[in-house]
Amino acid sequence: MTPFATVLARFARITRPRPKLNIWQWADSVRYLARGVSAKSRHGATRYSSSDAPHQRGVMESFTDPEVQTTVMIGASQVFGKTEIFNNVLGYFMDYRSGNAVVMYPTVDSSEKYSKKKLMPMIRSTPVLDALVPNSRSRDSGNTILVKEYTGGSIFLVGANSTSSLRGATGELLLADEIDSYEDSVGDEGDAVDLLWKRGESYPTAVQAVSSTPTIEGSSRIWSWFQMSDQRFWFVPCPHCGVHGLFKWSQESAVKTGPSYFVEWPKDKPAEAFIVCASCAKSIDDTQRLAMYFNGRWQATAPFTGIRGFHLNWIYCPWPAKKGYKNRLHQMAEEWERGKKKGEQSLKVIVNTGLCETWKIKLEDRPDHEALMLRLEDYPTEIPDPVVYLTASVDTQADRLEYEIQGWAIGEELYGIKTGKIFGNPHLADAWNQLDGILSGTFAHPCGVALRIGCTLIDSGGQHDAKAFAKPVYNFVRRRQGRYIFACKGSSELGSPLVVGRLQKNGIMLHSVGGDVAKSIIYERLSIMTPGPGYCHFGVGRGYDEEYFKQLTAEAVSINKGKRQWVKLRARNEGLDLRVYGHAAFELRNVNLQAVSDNLRKSAVPPPEEPKEPKTFILKPASEASLPPKPRRRVGFVKWV
Ligand SMILES: [Zn+2]
Repeated sequence: MTPFATVLARFARITRPRPKLNIWQWADSVRYLARGVSAKSRHGATRYSSSDAPHQRGVMESFTDPEVQTTVMIGASQVFGKTEIFNNVLGYFMDYRSGNAVVMYPTVDSSEKYSKKKLMPMIRSTPVLDALVPNSRSRDSGNTILVKEYTGGSIFLVGANSTSSLRGATGELLLADEIDSYEDSVGDEGDAVDLLWKRGESYPTAVQAVSSTPTIEGSSRIWSWFQMSDQRFWFVPCPHCGVHGLFKWSQESAVKTGPSYFVEWPKDKPAEAFIVCASCAKSIDDTQRLAMYFNGRWQATAPFTGIRGFHLNWIYCPWPAKKGYKNRLHQMAEEWERGKKKGEQSLKVIVNTGLCETWKIKLEDRPDHEALMLRLEDYPTEIPDPVVYLTASVDTQADRLEYEIQGWAIGEELYGIKTGKIFGNPHLADAWNQLDGILSGTFAHPCGVALRIGCTLIDSGGQHDAKAFAKPVYNFVRRRQGRYIFACKGSSELGSPLVVGRLQKNGIMLHSVGGDVAKSIIYERLSIMTPGPGYCHFGVGRGYDEEYFKQLTAEAVSINKGKRQWVKLRARNEGLDLRVYGHAAFELRNVNLQAVSDNLRKSAVPPPEEPKEPKTFILKPASEASLPPKPRRRVGFVKWV
C-alpha cells in the first residue's frame, strides 16, 4: 500500500459510520474461522458464532469493561476456546480501536507458531481484517512473523524466554498465554508477566489478560492470578430441581464453592457415566448436561477488585465426543480410567488440562521411616559389588561433624555405605583431622580394587548461623579442592538448580545446592519399592539407626499461602541434609556410571595367591578417563592442620 493509500484508508476507517458493537457482536457479524482450524470449518472458512460456545461472550465482554484491569482465563484445552477469544479480541482491537498490541507466549518459537497457525489465518479469512494488513509478500509491508503491522498499529508477538524479543514492543492491549509454562525469570530481569505489563505502562487504559491451564499447587501462576480475581464459574441449572450449580469431577475437587453436580460411573463401565445433582440426588445424562451448559451463566464467587477471572473445566464441553465414544461423559470417564492406569503423571495432565485444577503433592507422600528401616540389609563386603563410585557429604554442627558415604551403582541405585558423627568443636583441628582420615581412606571393592571417594561436599552454611562455620570449612577444603572436596551451602529457594559452583574471590569454589529439587528426587527414589534403578539400600551396622531414618524423613512439602515449601516436621534432619549434599556431589561430577563400571571391571585384580597390598584406584568420570593421566598434584595431599 502506498503512503497516500494508507492515509486514505485510515481516514475512511475513522469517518465510516459503524454500529456500536462489543467484541462478540463484532465477531458474530464479521469474523470467519479459517479453513481447517476447527471441525466446523473443515471444508472452508466458516462464520464464527458465539452461540456455539456462549460462555465465550462474558469473557470477551470483560476486555472492554472499563472497570476491569486484568482478565484471567483458566480453561480446559479445546473447550474454553481461548485462542478464538484472543483472536476475536485482537481482531476487534485492529478493526475498532487501533494501536499496538503485545502477545506473549512461553517461547519465541511458540509465538511464531501462534502467528503462523492462528493469527494470520484468522486475518486472511476475515475480509475486514485482511484489508488492514498489507500483503506480506510486498516488499514494504513491514510484516514479519513476529511483528504484524496493520493500518492503525502493530501487533508484537514475543517470547517469555527472550528479553530481546520484548525490546521495542509496547502496546495498550497485552495478552499473556500459557503463563504456567513461563520460566521463573526472563534472563535476570524478573517475572515475564510483570515485564509484559511494563510494556503498557504509558497507556492508562491498557487492557491486560493472562491465560493458562494450571500446574502444581503452590507454584501455578494462573492459579494465583485466579485467586486474586472475582473467580467466576459457569453456573448451570439442574433440570430436576432448578438449583444453579457447578459441574465437578468428584468430591475431592479443589473448587469448593457453589452447589455441585458430580460425574460418576459404575465400576469398570465408563460408557455408563452420568452426572448426579448433589442437591436433589437425581441423575443427569449427557444430553441434559449439554442443555444445562447452554442455559448457564457466569457468576462471581469472590469480591471484584479490578481482576476478573473465568474458570471452565472439561465437563462443560459443548463439542461432540470423539469417534468411538457414546458421548462426552463416556469419553471423559474413559480418559480418566486410562490416565489412572498409566500412573500419576497422566492423571496430573488430566487434572491440569481437563479439570483445570492444580495438582496437589500430598504431605502424606513423605516416606515412612519404619518402612525404610525394614530395608536394612547385610552387605557381604565393605563395598557391595554393584557399587562403582563413591561420594561423601558432611554436615557441620556446633559440637560435631556428621558425614555419610554413599555408593553409586548403575542406574543410580544407591547404597548407604556408612554414616557417622565426629564429635569435637569445628573451630578446632581435631574433628577435621579425623574427617580427613575418613575422606582419604580407601574402600575395598570385591573385585580387588580399592575405591576412593570421588567427590565430597561439606556444608559451610551451618544450620543456625550462616557465617559460623564458613571459616573452618573453607580452611579445610582450600587445599583439597583438587581432590574434589568442596564447600557447599543449601538454597531453599524454589527452582534453584540442583548444584552450581561459583569460584569466590578467596579462591574457594562454593557450591550452591537446590534443596527443593534434591529433596524431591530423594523422596521420589525412597518411594521405589524394589531394588533396581534409583532404589536406596541401607547397610546394617553402618550407622543407619532409627534416629537416622527419622531424620531422613523429617521434612515434607506443604502449601503455605499458595506457596510450595518444605517444612521440617522435627528439629533434627541431618540425615536428609547429608543425602541432599551427597546427591549434589554425585551430580556435579557428571559421572557416567556405565563407563566407570566398565573401567573398574577391567582393572579387576584376580584373586591373589598370597595377600598383597590392594591396588589404589582413583575413579574418574568417563570424560576424563580417556585423557592421559595428569601429573599428580601433591598439594592436594598435604595433611591439614
Ligand atoms: Zn437437582
